[in-house]
Formats: sequence, structure tokens, C-alpha cells
Amino acid sequence: MVARFRIERRPTRAVWVGHVVIGGGAPVVVQSMTDTDTADVEATVRQIRELHEAGSEIVRVTVPNLEAARAVPRIRERLEALGLQVPLVGDFHFNGHRLLAEVSELAPALAKLRINPGTVGQGERRDARFEAMVEAAIRHRRPVRIGVNWGSLDRTLAARLMDENARRSEPLPAEAVLREALVRSALESAARAEALGLPADHIVLSAKVSRVPDLVAVYRELARRSDYPLHLGLTEAGMGVRGIVASASALALLLAEGIGDTIRVSLTPAPGAARSEEVRVCREVLQALGLRRFAPGVSACPGCGRTTSSFFRELAAEIETWLGERMVEWRRRYPGAEQLQVAVMGCVVNGPGESRHADVGISLPGTGERPVAPVFVEGERVATLRGESLVEDFKRIVEAYVARRFGDAAQAAE
Ligand code: SF4
Repeated sequence: MVARFRIERRPTRAVWVGHVVIGGGAPVVVQSMTDTDTADVEATVRQIRELHEAGSEIVRVTVPNLEAARAVPRIRERLEALGLQVPLVGDFHFNGHRLLAEVSELAPALAKLRINPGTVGQGERRDARFEAMVEAAIRHRRPVRIGVNWGSLDRTLAARLMDENARRSEPLPAEAVLREALVRSALESAARAEALGLPADHIVLSAKVSRVPDLVAVYRELARRSDYPLHLGLTEAGMGVRGIVASASALALLLAEGIGDTIRVSLTPAPGAARSEEVRVCREVLQALGLRRFAPGVSACPGCGRTTSSFFRELAAEIETWLGERMVEWRRRYPGAEQLQVAVMGCVVNGPGESRHADVGISLPGTGERPVAPVFVEGERVATLRGESLVEDFKRIVEAYVARRFGDAAQAAE
């Protein structure tokens, strides 16, 4: 017997970010970041809403200047007026210490602060600024993500490790030293924050790089050397298919090892494309790995020379879209409906078999086959569809199945 692959999550502390828990065995949290001017309250609220409605459980906004810092409490108020309970994270670089001191309502409006140890300054100024930001977090009981980044690595630390490496009898490659610098920067900053009084269960770590093998190596080390929850993400992943594949590969490799408590996919949106695409990718990665379930699954064969008409592709696309639309109501009426698995298959080779494995499956006729489509519910053939009403008939069967299976579950729970 072959046992099913199960991901054993790495044990970590639990960190509360508003009402959302990161780590401590909680489901992996999806987050995203706006790309509007934070000072533009209406545009930022609109985008936060779009991201949240797409499934982002936490949204980060950049806070680069005083105008943005003053806008954040107004953004929080507007979100609350709209009934959107999404925790906001403030992303600080260079001047966060000053903004947090000057705008007293800023920290209370945020559910978490992101501090990048590589952008708080150098030398003594660095320590004082880092301290000021951590103290603001302590004062307002806010957690902190210590988020280091390959592109803004702490130069003093990197230089120190490079010097140490040069004195070795067999120096390591420079890239290995830089990876170590990333890990040390995150861990030493976390230790410093704890020494200043920030509780360990108020700290999340991240160390983002732009290449998948480097990211995996760095996060394995962070996971081995600490029990802080980890925020995963490939930085500067890029655009389109390449960015999605690189991000999904990196996330999947680490998540499959149980590493990662919250994820973000950093895609560069195509001109005019929705910002929320990055949220969709996060959800699809988690669902594909079986870590979370957000929507019904559709198994569709890729099609081949046995399906020369475009009907099969159109039906698969239509069913996928329809399921997404129906989920808005099903989520409310039929708890658990996201567990539904539907199959839309192209011909008799794998069609009946795959359809039997799904909750509801349809096996369309391939080229030269009889123009009929058997439908299976929980492995039993329940109908044979044909003709122009085939699509609507199939939807009716799915709808009835959902009402019976998940409606009964809802009634039993009452
Ligand atoms: S199920 Fe049929 S149509 Fe689909 S890929 Fe397999 S052989 Fe081709």
C-alpha cells in the first residue's frame, strides 16, 4: 500500500497579527502587498479591498513618507467603515523610526510592522533606529516581521562575514557567505529585538532572495536555527508565467518540507492586469499541495488528438468559472462545498475512470465516439447527457449533488 503524502508542518511559535494567526500550526496564511501610493487613501482602500476579497488574509502597505504615514489611520478607518477586517502591515525602510515617532496614530492602525535590518542605517545610527522601531512595536503590542532581503542586505554584516571568510584556510564561495549573511541578519536582529523586550511570539522572520535554489537554502537554515514563524516569498519573481512558475516552485519545495507559515507571491503585474493575481497564485499553491482548500477542484484532461472539437475546452473553462461563481452562495449555504471535486474529461480513454474518482465527473465523447457523455456521481454512472442542453444538465447535477451532500452537513451542524 502506498500511503498518501502528508506535509508535516515545522513547529513554530504562534504570532497573532490582528485576528489572524501566523505559525503555531495554524493554516498557512495568504498575504499580499498594495502598489498604490499609500497617501492616496481611496485608491489604496480600493486595492486592499480587491486583494482581501480575492483571499488575501493580511495586506501590506508601504509607508515611505509622512503623507503615507498620516494616510494609514484613515485607510484603517475607511476599511472598518466598509466592514473589512483585514490586518494591515506597514512596510518601513530608512525612516520608519521617524514616521512612527511623528505620527502617533500610525502604529495603532497597523497590525504588524515590517522592519528590514538592511535599510535602518549603518553603525550606531542603525542600532538607535532599530531600537526605536522595536520600542514602538512593544509600546503598541504589535508583532514585527524582521524581513531581510538580498537586495538590501546589511552591508556591515556582509563585510564582516566576508573578512572572516577571507581568513579561512579554505574560503567558501562568496554566494555562500552572502546567504549566511542573510540568515545571520534575520536571526541576530530577532535576538536584538528580544533583548529590547519584544516577546518571541511577536516575531516573524523572512529572508527573501530572487533565485529559487538560494531561497530554499536560506529558509532551510532559518528553519533549522529558529522556531520563529517564517514568511515565505521569492523576491523580484518577475512577470507572467515565469514569475508564477518560479514562485510556485520555491514555495512548493519549502512548504512540502513543512517550512513556511505565511506566503506572498511577488509578481510584477502585466499592464492593466489585476493586482490580485498574486493572491490567486498563493491560494492555488496551497490548494495544490493539499495544505488548504479554497474552492472546488476541477480535474480536466489536457485534451489531445482524440478531442478535435473545442467543445471540451470550452466546457472545462465554463465549469471552472461557474463553480467559482456558485461558491459565493455555496460558501454561505453549504459549508464544506470547497471540498467538491469535479472532473471534465475529453474521451473514453481516461474519461470514465477519472470521472469515477471525482465527486461528480463527466466524460465527453472524443472524435468518432458516440455523441453521448456519461456522468458519474461518487463513482456511479447516474446519467448519460447529449444534445444542446448538455452543459446546463451537467450543472444541474452538480448543483443537486452540492445541495444534498453539503446541505445535509449544514443541517446536521444546526
Ligand atoms: S482523456 Fe482522452 S482526450 Fe483527454 S488527454 Fe486522455 S486520451 Fe486525450
